[in-house]
Amino acid sequence: MAVEAKGSRELFKEVIEAGLCTYCGACSGGCPYLVPYKGKIALLDNCTRDEGQCYGYCPRTFLDMSAISQQVFGVPYGEDELGTVKEVMIARSTGKRIKEKGQYGGTVTALMSLALAEGLIDGAILTRTGKDKAASAYLANSAAEVLQGAGSNYLACPVLETYNRTPKDSHRKLGIVGVPCQVIALSKMKQKPPENRPDIGDVKLVVGLFCTWALSPDGFYKFLKENVDLPKVTRFDIPPPPAKRFDAYIGTERKSFPLEQIRQHTMPTCAYCLDMTAEFADISVGSVEGLEGWNTVIVRTRTGAELMETAKKKKKLEIDKLPAQNLAHLKEASLLKKKRALTEIIKRSGSKNKLLYLGLSPRLVDKFLNGQGGK
Ligand SMILES: Cc1cc2nc3c(=O)[nH]c(=O)nc-3n(C[C@H](O)[C@H](O)[C@H](O)COP(=O)(O)OP(=O)(O)OC[C@H]3O[C@@H](n4cnc5c(N)ncnc54)[C@H](O)[C@@H]3O)c2cc1C
Repeated sequence: MAVEAKGSRELFKEVIEAGLCTYCGACSGGCPYLVPYKGKIALLDNCTRDEGQCYGYCPRTFLDMSAISQQVFGVPYGEDELGTVKEVMIARSTGKRIKEKGQYGGTVTALMSLALAEGLIDGAILTRTGKDKAASAYLANSAAEVLQGAGSNYLACPVLETYNRTPKDSHRKLGIVGVPCQVIALSKMKQKPPENRPDIGDVKLVVGLFCTWALSPDGFYKFLKENVDLPKVTRFDIPPPPAKRFDAYIGTERKSFPLEQIRQHTMPTCAYCLDMTAEFADISVGSVEGLEGWNTVIVRTRTGAELMETAKKKKKLEIDKLPAQNLAHLKEASLLKKKRALTEIIKRSGSKNKLLYLGLSPRLVDKFLNGQGGK
């Protein structure tokens, strides 16, 4: 089943007003009417088109998981808690500057730099934190520019607007780093290529970030402004479990907030998201429980495997095995996200047969709902 042909009016009603917008940026930048502002997409004027790419590419309009999986991996969506996986490992950058600036092991920054150096891509769409500590997306054209994006900003950021704004005739090979909803929107674009944006075939590398939820660029930003000396902050972190805190660093000085306090500022839509590990990316990267300075890496596609191989050969990454216990925890956390999201979706829709935006087989719905991740 395909996404119904609808336009910005329906996008506004079914997604934005319904509190389901992820602020991924897939609908903005290619259209004069839809504009991101403080964590929300504003509709500046009524568009007369009955069918819009804004509606089609939104990660919260109909999402046929199996069709997307077929498109990206050539196989139907399966039972694995982590999605389609070639290999799981841990990695960290060997570069001194990347290690210093990177969130954990700097693997994402090292991979995007390497992809540029190898000519796999000509530019990377990344997110950086400005002096005001807001998150903004940009196109990096050199290793130095890639380094500007190192580090996590947990505010939702309309990354895909930068892709939409890249001139169609630029014919540049692009890499994109994004959270799971952004990777899903890109996968929808691969299914039905956009007309007025760069060729989706020119997106040669998609690196996904693990994500449990993102924070509101409005509410949480206000909270930060009131509670920390924002211009002086050098780093944000949500350390892996069992820490349960959000940290803002000023140099080595740390100010921590309990996650419970922070949770009220998460994007409401994250409660309906099944995907913790960016399941449709070439490579997905997250933290490693109990192992500071390293990343968990899930390699999913041939492109991803070849880039990891090059990183190893050229000694850009140090790579090791993910301990079995970490893999088990990762699967448990990923399953727990699926289970929570499905529970919320069903609570809202009132039926297991109506999953808001989600197209998932009844067998997988039951499997995820009854899985052992909900302890
Ligand atoms: C909103 C959010 C939630 C996350 N939740 C989890 C989680 O629950 N568990 C987990 O293990 N990891 C989570 N991560 C991922 C984690 O914070 C690291 O980004 C990841 O481990 C890669 O680490 P690194 O050392 O390779 O990063 P680096 O080499 O420092 O690269 C970080 C990359 O993140 C990108 N980035 C930064 N902020 C954003 C943003 N707001 N939106 C999109 N891209 C951004 C930058 O472009 C940069 O390329 C989350 C990240 C974000 C942005």
